[in-house]
Amino acid sequence: MYPTITNSNYSFSKENEPAATVPSGTTVKFSATDAFGGQITRQNAKDGLKNFDWNRVNPAAGPLKVEGAQPGDVLKVEILDIQITGDTAVLMTGNALGVCKEFFDDNHIRVVDIADGCVVFSPEIKLPIRPMVGVIGVAPAAEAVNNGTPGEHGGNMDCKEITAGSTLYLPVNVEGALLSIGDAHAAMADGESSGTGAEAPADILVKVEVLKNCPWPTPLIENDTHYMPLASALTADEAIDNAVLKGVGFLMNTQGMTRFDAITLISLAADVRICQVVDPLKTARLNIQKSLLKQN
Ligand code: CA
Ligand code: CA
Repeated sequence: MYPTITNSNYSFSKENEPAATVPSGTTVKFSATDAFGGQITRQNAKDGLKNFDWNRVNPAAGPLKVEGAQPGDVLKVEILDIQITGDTAVLMTGNALGVCKEFFDDNHIRVVDIADGCVVFSPEIKLPIRPMVGVIGVAPAAEAVNNGTPGEHGGNMDCKEITAGSTLYLPVNVEGALLSIGDAHAAMADGESSGTGAEAPADILVKVEVLKNCPWPTPLIENDTHYMPLASALTADEAIDNAVLKGVGFLMNTQGMTRFDAITLISLAADVRICQVVDPLKTARLNIQKSLLKQN
């Protein structure tokens, strides 16, 4: 049995009491409700959001304190498994959410089935589930950041590449790092254009490890084929620029490239991708192919 975290919080804050404390190298299960705190069910969905408590939006399970993690370190979070634990998912968009805001006069929700490994969008359209977590991060050094907002600490990055088999590198800003995870999606495309993915509860199994003197930019995703620095900013333009600049620094630091070589190689071979365009800050990533790099 792995240590299991079920406590929820609504901000990344150094003031949050740890739900558990573990040594570096431990595998931990984060048991997270969906982004609505489980408030929307098939039964009550027909009533709309009449009794909906907006204070219970975007909970994250945690925080996990990792022994030995000190400011300046990097926390390596290997996503070993994401199991969607419900048999439905919630879709939402509305007048305050997503790219079609101006066309809606209210919020609209739909509860869809998850069956046979698919999100059943309609009888004709079934999407194979691809579980990912939208909210994953650590406590910032200074003021708390609500779970709806992404940033250098991670948080609500809504990046579909944060999925089983990938590893996320986060900065350690406070002693113990204070990792929290939530906002699982059974499926989500780059952009998250409606403002939500297929929102569902999940058990997320991760292995945490403290890295000393790690020169990598954060947040950074690694999977079998790519390194992907992430950046969040007020506009997608700025987020893209910052993700590319992190990629330039990454190639200079780890490959010994000049700035000219780094930016021109990125220009030829590293795709800029949007993670999401619907949160208070927008998130972009740069997909750097490992096959281009010297092996360590
Ligand atoms: Ca989210
Ligand atoms: Ca979400």
